Amino acid sequence: MLSLPTLPPHLQANLQGVHERITKAARAAGRDSSSVRLLAVSKAFPAEAVLAAARAGQRSFGENYAQEAIAKMEAVANLAPELIVEWHFIGPIQSNKTRLLAERFDWVQSVDRLKVAERLAEQRPLNLPALNLLLQVNISGEASKGGTAPDELLSLARSVVALPRLLLRGLMAVPAATDSVAEQRAAFRQMKQLFNQLRNQLRDEPGGRPPLGANPVSAFDTLSIGMSSDLEAAVAEGSTMVRVGTGIFGARAARQ
Ligand SMILES: *Cc1c(COP(=O)(O)O)cnc(C)c1O
Repeated sequence: MLSLPTLPPHLQANLQGVHERITKAARAAGRDSSSVRLLAVSKAFPAEAVLAAARAGQRSFGENYAQEAIAKMEAVANLAPELIVEWHFIGPIQSNKTRLLAERFDWVQSVDRLKVAERLAEQRPLNLPALNLLLQVNISGEASKGGTAPDELLSLARSVVALPRLLLRGLMAVPAATDSVAEQRAAFRQMKQLFNQLRNQLRDEPGGRPPLGANPVSAFDTLSIGMSSDLEAAVAEGSTMVRVGTGIFGARAARQ
């Protein structure tokens, strides 16, 4: 039996609200709401918040800082040893800090250069399943943001699919923040186009029919776009995973 803490009413209401937003946006786009996964971004919130959300059925969590995440994973495992949680790394990656990601996470969504992918492939323990990988795209061309440039995406993806112990699942992006729904949708639409284009290119690669490396093109199924403030626009444009922090857990304290 899982023993989890009781769910604080605000968290229950927030989670339900986010599920309703996803359902409504999916319906408006003629999509099935089960085609959009919810990643709960638990950065800056303690293990107890993860356990409380788990009590409401949430099982995938996103983290930006490796050390913080690992302390939290250990606390969660101690408090609820039977609970199976899927951990996604979504933060900036320093290439000398890949080992913890390779050893402890189920997904890494923020890969934007080959060096990082190569190290993850080398360091992924053989007894674990392949590490699920998304390539982060700098879709708004912001100098301050991580992500590969769209015109470098194909060459990066070709190299990544040839690496062992990784499974390239798709793309992730954090477009420039804007209140304009039209601008939000335009950036997400570009991501969907890049996603479709890359999927076709990987399939049509000379000698690249599955298995291309170890990566069947059928595994290329995830477009991680949309956060608390713009998930409707992302779902309208084809998101298959929204990453929601504030909308579930509330405002984060500033990081020291
Ligand atoms: C923090 C973060 C999120 C969640 O943002 P909210 O606005 O709190 O929903 C999603 N994706 C990434 C990459 C993040 O760093």
